[in-house]
Amino acid sequence: MAKFRCVCGQLISTSGEIPNPIEWHCISDVNLGRLVDDGTADDVYHASTIFYRCPASDHLWVFWDGIDKSPSLYSPTPKTNFEPEGIIEEHPES
Ligand SMILES: [Zn+2]
Repeated sequence: MAKFRCVCGQLISTSGEIPNPIEWHCISDVNLGRLVDDGTADDVYHASTIFYRCPASDHLWVFWDGIDKSPSLYSPTPKTNFEPEGIIEEHPES
C-alpha cells in the first residue's frame, strides 16, 4: 500500500518522502519502559504503532495490527471548553 484516500477525499501517501511528514509512531508506555535503557532506535521503531494524520482533516488512520492490515479510523471532534481540574488521586493518602 502506498496511497489511500481519507474520508475527506485527501490522498494519504504511506511512501515517498522520508521522513514522511504525516506519518507518526506511537509506542506504549510498557514497551517504552522496556526499551528505553537497552533498546536501539530500531527496536523502538519496530515496537511502535504507525499512524497517519490527514493534513486536511486531522483524521487519524492507526495501523494497530501492522501496516499490511486494515487501519482504524479516528475522527477529530470540535474543540471543547475542557479545562483540566488537576490530578485526581485514585488512592488518596490517609
Ligand atoms: Zn482527511
